[in-house]
Amino acid sequence: MNDLQVAGVVKAYGPGAAPVLDGLDLTVPGGALTAVLGPSGCGKTTLLRVVAGFLRADEGTVTVAGRTLGGPGVHLPPERRRIGIVPQEGALFPHLSVARNIAFGLTGADRAVKRSRVSDMLDLVGLAGYGDRMPHELSGGQQQRVSLARALAPEPHLVLLDEPFSALDTGLREAVRADVRAVLRATEATAVLVTHDQQEALSTADLVAVLREGRVAQCAAPEELYRRPADPWVASFVGDAVFLPGEAERDAVRTALGTIPLDSAPAGLTLGTVLLRPEQLQVTAVDAAPAKGTVTDVRFLGHDALLAVSVDGLAEPLTVRSPGPIPARPGDRVGITVTGEATLHPAI
Ligand code: ATP
Repeated sequence: MNDLQVAGVVKAYGPGAAPVLDGLDLTVPGGALTAVLGPSGCGKTTLLRVVAGFLRADEGTVTVAGRTLGGPGVHLPPERRRIGIVPQEGALFPHLSVARNIAFGLTGADRAVKRSRVSDMLDLVGLAGYGDRMPHELSGGQQQRVSLARALAPEPHLVLLDEPFSALDTGLREAVRADVRAVLRATEATAVLVTHDQQEALSTADLVAVLREGRVAQCAAPEELYRRPADPWVASFVGDAVFLPGEAERDAVRTALGTIPLDSAPAGLTLGTVLLRPEQLQVTAVDAAPAKGTVTDVRFLGHDALLAVSVDGLAEPLTVRSPGPIPARPGDRVGITVTGEATLHPAI
């Protein structure tokens, strides 16, 4: 299979500069879409450029489908790596038709083969009949689909997508994202999607690798990442997090919100920081719950509302995500109940 292995990659921009990639390890399984998610400046684009061959790593190796593309004494140029790239804004050649853009990477093939491949690619991305158009005659979403067709046409081992939806407006972004995902699934392409948008990563990818300061903090399936983040930093980067002190007691943890079943905790850890998600907390009548507090703020978001509640006995207010009508107003005394399980982490 066309899996990508990045092992111990170090990259600094210039001698004496701090490394941007700092011993990064990442395995991307063949046929899967893996999102690389991280805050601005954490090294996502640098990683992509090292994998694509535009940058040479200082240390470590990059292997695709068992072939070493970069490593000690090896640096294949980008055009020999069999990697397709979908950049941020289509970046189609403006003076070439859609068909010629798609055919661009099909070097060596004869005309009939090229024509049939371009036609297959146009069908694949839902743009049959658009081959003679020029890029400026397409919408932003159509341009991104042509860009994907161009990347896939030479049957690459790996496709790299660099924030490919960021220039599209919100409604279109969702639709193009779904189209791109469907095309990647249909071709069983191995793909890496770089994004700083956690919703995009969670909703689109099979696996999400969270980058922090030039290393992978955690790589897991979206639900696993959300439910069992490796540490509090990952927890608050991927979604909203509620932290409170707790003491583990067998398979539960005692907190100011009552005793909560534990999903996971490091062996031997008793006192630590408990992680919950805001949708695990519910506001109830003040006498109906053991934990009580005062609502300090309400933010209405349409599909739900976020309430800040200052719980008796806790220093920091907690965030409650409440679907439906807003259940309480600032200043109201409320009860708080918890559903589901918690994870326990070393105290922060
Ligand atoms: P963003 O989400 O903002 O695009 P990123 O995670 O893709 O960020 P990179 O573009 O890889 O991050 O940059 C990582 C760090 O390397 C940043 O501190 C950036 O300033 C630095 N950097 C990137 N390119 C260069 C360069 N050509 N020369 C020097 N430093 C650079």
